[in-house]
Amino acid sequence: MSLFTLHAQDGAARAGLLATDHGTAQTPVFMAVGTQGTVKGVTPHQVHEAGIRVVLGNTYHLMVRPGADTVAHLGGLHAMARWAGPMLTDSGGFQVFSLSGTNRVSEQGCLFKNHLDGREEMLTPERSMEVQHKLGADIVMQLDDVPGLPAPPGREADTMRRSVRWLDRCRAALPPLSAQGRRQHLFGIVQGGLDLALRRESATELVRRDLPGYAIGGLSVGETKHEMQGVLQAVTPLLPPSQPRYLMGVGFPEDLLNAIACGVDMFDCVLPTRVARHSMVFTWSGRLRMRNASHTRSGLPLEPGCTCYTCRNFSRGYLRHLLMAEEILGMTLLTIHNLHFYAALTAGAREAIVAGRYAAFVAEHLPRVAGKGD
Ligand SMILES: [Zn+2]
Repeated sequence: MSLFTLHAQDGAARAGLLATDHGTAQTPVFMAVGTQGTVKGVTPHQVHEAGIRVVLGNTYHLMVRPGADTVAHLGGLHAMARWAGPMLTDSGGFQVFSLSGTNRVSEQGCLFKNHLDGREEMLTPERSMEVQHKLGADIVMQLDDVPGLPAPPGREADTMRRSVRWLDRCRAALPPLSAQGRRQHLFGIVQGGLDLALRRESATELVRRDLPGYAIGGLSVGETKHEMQGVLQAVTPLLPPSQPRYLMGVGFPEDLLNAIACGVDMFDCVLPTRVARHSMVFTWSGRLRMRNASHTRSGLPLEPGCTCYTCRNFSRGYLRHLLMAEEILGMTLLTIHNLHFYAALTAGAREAIVAGRYAAFVAEHLPRVAGKGD
């Protein structure tokens, strides 16, 4: 059984199905980020109830604490964190580059200082695969070389080509089944920054390797929305229609709608959960800042008509009170709504694609979801 089945296409926008050893997920899909083996502030049951079907784990964080062997001893990431659905783990590379102190990248891998105890360690493609094999996610990501920003001249090409060589080492190193005996699908990552020729070279090299899925990395790092769109329009036509495309770390609701129009199937971003902890929610009519005094006596739900647990039960006035009193429940309830919103956004996009009216869906919703709500 292949990982992905394409159900419908409308322009470049696609509706499909991911099928893993831990169940299925309809695409386009938004995957919730569970950095430390938990989506912050919510239980796995609440995540599922919110409509989320795929959860991410961060290899770097789990590798440094509690350690891959401990996770494997506790049954793997699915069993340990009690998430029965599909999971994806990243390579650990991004955190090594962004969190650790001095690091030195060589052809061998990346030397880094563990941010918890300062111990020097080496993350190689083989080590990333060994850790992800023990964690046991359904989809695992190759280790790629991430250029600093802004990338010095020439570095963008060097890191992209090194990432292709590291992909080959990842493919050679990953056992056919996880430590728990389940299938793992290795995605390659298209790199090349904003240089479209490099992006095309990267995509072509990856496609030659006939991977189960393709990610587009290195975006949402300060480029304009127009530049992001340019990269997506250059890359997605080169990717095979029968495999899923995953845009890493993106982003705002309007980014998702635009990327879906370019043929992207999978997304992850810390945004809906992170901003919820800072009292902001997304709605179909725009963003709300829930600490605003205007909500003090509002008996309305966050979003009238929303079927999430939070909107079915609580008023804006109560939610604002919880946030002002710094009660944990306030963050939990806002996180539930935001996850539900992202799940509903991708489900709505899917429905529109299947009905052949995705362009109208975008025209109707994009200006509003990107704006300030009421
Ligand atoms: Zn809601």
